[in-house]
Amino acid sequence: MIDWFITLINYRPDALSVWSDPIVKERLSHYYSVMKNEKPARFLAAKLLPLDIDPYSPSVSVEELWRLHDKMSIEFEGFYRDLSQGGLGKLEASEKPRFSYLDLKVALAYRLMNPCRLCERRCGARRLEGRPGVCTMDKEIIVHSYFHHMGEEAPLVPSGTIFYGGCNFKCVFCQNYDISQVNPRGGEKLSTRELASIQVYLRRSGARNINHVGGEPTPHLPFILESFKYVDVNVPQLWNSNMYMSEDSMKLIVDIIDIWLPDLKYGNNDCAWRLSKVRNYWEVATRNIKIAHDHGDIIIRHLVLPNHIECCTRPVLEWIAKNTPRSLVNIMDQYRPEHIVAKYPHMYRDIARRPKASEILEAYRIADELGIVYKPVS
Ligand code: SF4
Repeated sequence: MIDWFITLINYRPDALSVWSDPIVKERLSHYYSVMKNEKPARFLAAKLLPLDIDPYSPSVSVEELWRLHDKMSIEFEGFYRDLSQGGLGKLEASEKPRFSYLDLKVALAYRLMNPCRLCERRCGARRLEGRPGVCTMDKEIIVHSYFHHMGEEAPLVPSGTIFYGGCNFKCVFCQNYDISQVNPRGGEKLSTRELASIQVYLRRSGARNINHVGGEPTPHLPFILESFKYVDVNVPQLWNSNMYMSEDSMKLIVDIIDIWLPDLKYGNNDCAWRLSKVRNYWEVATRNIKIAHDHGDIIIRHLVLPNHIECCTRPVLEWIAKNTPRSLVNIMDQYRPEHIVAKYPHMYRDIARRPKASEILEAYRIADELGIVYKPVS
């Protein structure tokens, strides 16, 4: 009932009609089943796979935890398949173990945070001791806002979006610069139980998914995983990210995220360094997006930057066509010069304007030529 009410007040006809497209339905089939409560979300299953030890005990080494994780990650695939065959009924009838595969992930995530190597900056901040990293985050969960986002891709809305503070990128054109760079710590400080309550509220009031975004969700990964322990509603979990996380972070979330919404911004490392101050962007982002694609449902976003068609848009689309053929793609045309670019346009002349219609059309033309599916979600 509430679901329908929210849909009505935020009516977006494309959000309903997009599911009549067979390609969208097939490529997002896992997400669709969880959204419709035909199948459990993966994090709920992770809470039911029993773990024999207490992973939070300081006497268990990190090597031992990873050994167990590698073993259980294989077991989890079969476990999830069996559990989801029974719809939600089997899930509800299952007994909750004292410690689970999810606890193992939570324990490992907190260890990765001190010194921090959650993302490939590997800045080593001792965050649990209150020392912030390059992303400006320490041991506190900072949330700036949460609501039903109606501006996301059609299969996702209403999207129960949670905006976390801070970011490991320093994009000079950031469209969310207030929460990522200027005032990242200005949001509300929450406990993991409060973060879980927000997710339950968003789902019960009609959200199709929980959309973790920012800023960037990666610095908050341990808190997000811990919050799943207290989320008791079935809801697809969506990771909306620059995908600059470390391989270990990726291992912790790859099998419990239901749908991925990554950015692939740049087609080379020089543009990434000049505009976002990150090294090895191409290798890291493509590695992680490929892993996400091979494990789950995915919509890849590419924001078209003015004057960057040949150096960024073309190689990005070519890589997607070759390496992640199951992905849906959103070619985004809404770039505006913001933040540092708006203040010092003479330093960033190439991106100090909106993209021209001819540039957007050229991006579409390249995508068409490569056989990329972008229209239903753009
Ligand atoms: S998530 Fe933040 S603190 Fe951790 S390595 Fe990345 S930038 Fe540093």
